[in-house]
Amino acid sequence: MADIQTSIRKNQKIKLLNGQTVTVTGKIGEGGQGIVYRVKVDGTNEEKAMKWYFMYKINDPKSFCSNLADNVATGSPSETFVWPEQLTEVTNGSFGYIMEIIPDRYKALSKYLQARVSFKSCSAMVTAAINIVEAFQQLINKGYSFQDINDGSFKIDPTTGDVLICDCDNVVSFGKASGISGKARYKAPEVVRGDTLPNKVTDRYSLAVILFLLLVGNHPLEGARSNVPCMTGKYERRFYGQEPVFMFDEQLDVNRPVPGLHRNAIALWPCYPDFIRKAFIRSFSQDSLLRSEGRLIEQEWLMLLVRLKSCIVRCMNCGCEYFAESTIATACPDCMAYNTPPGYLRFDKKRTNVEITIPIADGAKLYEAELDERSKDYNTVSAEILVKPGKYGLKNLSKSVWEITAPGGKTVKKAPGEVAVLGTGFRIDFGNGVTAEIVANSR
Ligand SMILES: [Zn+2]
Repeated sequence: MADIQTSIRKNQKIKLLNGQTVTVTGKIGEGGQGIVYRVKVDGTNEEKAMKWYFMYKINDPKSFCSNLADNVATGSPSETFVWPEQLTEVTNGSFGYIMEIIPDRYKALSKYLQARVSFKSCSAMVTAAINIVEAFQQLINKGYSFQDINDGSFKIDPTTGDVLICDCDNVVSFGKASGISGKARYKAPEVVRGDTLPNKVTDRYSLAVILFLLLVGNHPLEGARSNVPCMTGKYERRFYGQEPVFMFDEQLDVNRPVPGLHRNAIALWPCYPDFIRKAFIRSFSQDSLLRSEGRLIEQEWLMLLVRLKSCIVRCMNCGCEYFAESTIATACPDCMAYNTPPGYLRFDKKRTNVEITIPIADGAKLYEAELDERSKDYNTVSAEILVKPGKYGLKNLSKSVWEITAPGGKTVKKAPGEVAVLGTGFRIDFGNGVTAEIVANSR
């Protein structure tokens, strides 16, 4: 192993700026900017990954390197980021940095998009979406923007929905350019048009693109109109910058998905509850695309996505998992049977502008952040809806005692582990300032 492009050899020792040395033990992968090697930190048993740059691919090496040094010094915004840990000394005219090795259980988003990997459950997929939003929230709060997002940057465990975000060497503070021209597909239209440098509003657009790719499986702006034989720079500027149109825009139908070409979008878009489709319609409206208006903030996405996770239910006919609406019948995507929930839980307070209703359907779960206003935990199940012929109930899996009031005014308490049998008009006080009512659906 000796690379001509980087002149790094196996067993070569590279000095880090903190004085340690590493020994190159193998190659992990190669990207547009450089090669990633496996290295051993000398004097320890630690293995790390080392990215080594093709210097000719970097516009302004001096400022690129100083930005990287700043990011090393500041440290990672969250554990989700595979953040640069130490820079190397310049060796043979190039340099690099070391970072954690990504475990094999994480697969690139690009593999999911090509159907080479698929999620083991709906809840793993929604958990991955939540993890990505939380990571972006921390990144934006620290004033960073991600300038070279691509679908290889996101690595996801298909069983748990755990996420690692790599390519963090192109993260820069708002208002700076990284010297790397990222892919137009993930950039906000105003950045593609050259109207602005990346900022938190443009980051929010990129986040919506990633979420759409993850949940719906195609790019939101790629449909019939953008289906050109060759995506030249001129077309890129047009379809992602100057004249972008969402494939499911409510007014403009010029860029709808093409059968055979955008199969995922055609199959998956109808499977989502109305509140998720509306969130994407708003994210990619002409107001958003042309005037940067109306984009969702991270906390709104978190509440929408945890609500989406709560709407995952089991089909009464075939047992398959799907996303159920609260107030209307939803067709099971597997057996096509229509199921209408007998009613739904309607929470009294909106959360970050998001109304929360949960269908009474077998398998629906409530998460800690839904039942406790102070909680940021979108994964711990705090309640589960149980449905049996002729009756339904809610199992308390939280740490709080609930107070349940029947329509006649009778009140009972339900401790953790107990099941409350419910009916129309029952009110539940979950403690922690959160209350809900059971509303019946007309049949
Ligand atoms: Zn079914």
